Amino acid sequence: MSPINLFKEFPVTDLLTTIPGPRATALVDRDTAVMAPCSGRVYPFVMDRGLGCEVWDVDGNRYLDLNAGIAVVSTGHSHPRLVQALQDQVSKFIHMAGTDFYNEPMVKAAEKITSLMPGSGEWQVFFANSGTESVEAAIKLARYYTKRQNVIGFYSSFHGRSYGSLSITASKPYQRKGFFPLMPGVFHAFYPNPYRTPWGVEPERVAEICLDFIEKTLFTTTTPADDVAAIIAEPIQGEGGYVVPAPGFWQGLRDLCDRHGILLIADEVQSGVGRTGKMWAVEYEGIVPDIITSAKGIGSGVPVGAMVARKEISSVWKPGAHGNTYGGNALAMRAVYETLCLAEEELMANANEVGGYFKQRLHELEDRYECIGDVRGRGLMIGMEFIKDNVNKDPHGDLSNAVMEESFRRGMLLLTCGKSTIRFCPPLVLTKDQVDEGINLLNDTLQALGAK
Ligand SMILES: *Cc1c(COP(=O)(O)O)cnc(C)c1O
Repeated sequence: MSPINLFKEFPVTDLLTTIPGPRATALVDRDTAVMAPCSGRVYPFVMDRGLGCEVWDVDGNRYLDLNAGIAVVSTGHSHPRLVQALQDQVSKFIHMAGTDFYNEPMVKAAEKITSLMPGSGEWQVFFANSGTESVEAAIKLARYYTKRQNVIGFYSSFHGRSYGSLSITASKPYQRKGFFPLMPGVFHAFYPNPYRTPWGVEPERVAEICLDFIEKTLFTTTTPADDVAAIIAEPIQGEGGYVVPAPGFWQGLRDLCDRHGILLIADEVQSGVGRTGKMWAVEYEGIVPDIITSAKGIGSGVPVGAMVARKEISSVWKPGAHGNTYGGNALAMRAVYETLCLAEEELMANANEVGGYFKQRLHELEDRYECIGDVRGRGLMIGMEFIKDNVNKDPHGDLSNAVMEESFRRGMLLLTCGKSTIRFCPPLVLTKDQVDEGINLLNDTLQALGAK
């Protein structure tokens, strides 16, 4: 029996307590006393266990999980093949310093990931432990290889919270407030969001105008092109609102980088590993970037990141130029290998099929409710943006937050992103029945909130 069917037949229970229940409430109090308050918790979900796309809280309530721990648990909670691989590895060894020694799980994971890269060239991987560290590795490699300093990123982007990546992140001001000065040499350009174009230009021209801004404004005012090491962008902006860029943007970026000897980095930390229905979201754009950064979904929940670069670039690194303690950790490597195999064998195809169905059902809701301004995305990376009215299209952040909170109380885990968007990034084992369940819950939620 395929794991997807196995998940489907798992018994479904109804909510047992009001939400949050007594055990969850008690745990939240204990958490508040000892956990640093920098994490902005969105609602009091206290996990007990999960299987596939279903999770249970400590009071026994069952929820449909449409966020997968922020697009992380790609194979579904406790996928049997992952559990087996991890249990097997725990009993052999857990860690043996991948930067100092060798081990087979690391080589197998590296062989697998480099075999799944776009284009026909050769690639090499550096394993990190998170998204931000993969981005740091990419910045360091780009500077080392090009012998240039500057980096161009995009407004509304998210690349992480450590100093290098935070300097490029331009998603929400509170992520930067109080932390200046950041890394110097970072410049920002506009991302071609077709729904909210910069300066209100027509969506058909937005890609061209955003590219022109780099070439005709940045390069002629603030950073000479030949001081730019890399341009980094997300193939679909994640934290910034699940924004699919206007067609032609990535091809234009590739051409621009080639003209000026700049490396092109695709940050696939959220969009990669089959989530969009292709292994890498950038494959939809028909170009090959120089570096791909990955994390989140690549370990299905085991903390791991990867910076994968064209071999011609990564091979310039001298031994000792970069390193870490945990990179190549055996548990993480088994998780990566198993996740990539599952993505290739069935998850990508499922993301395509079920994602298409999900988007179609969300478009039905969009037709019914004026407050839904836009439904967009690829595979199982779908955003639904709420607006105050469809003349001015002002973002309705209060409503997207209310939808998230009310859905939680009704047994469904959602997360927001951008100013007023609900992001759907479920485990890639989601079934059509679960989509129907989610759509019904969403419709009930919108009714209960009196949404029009
Ligand atoms: C989440 C995210 C990061 C940062 O990953 P962490 O593991 O939180 O450091 C970087 N880039 C993108 C596109 C992300 O979505």
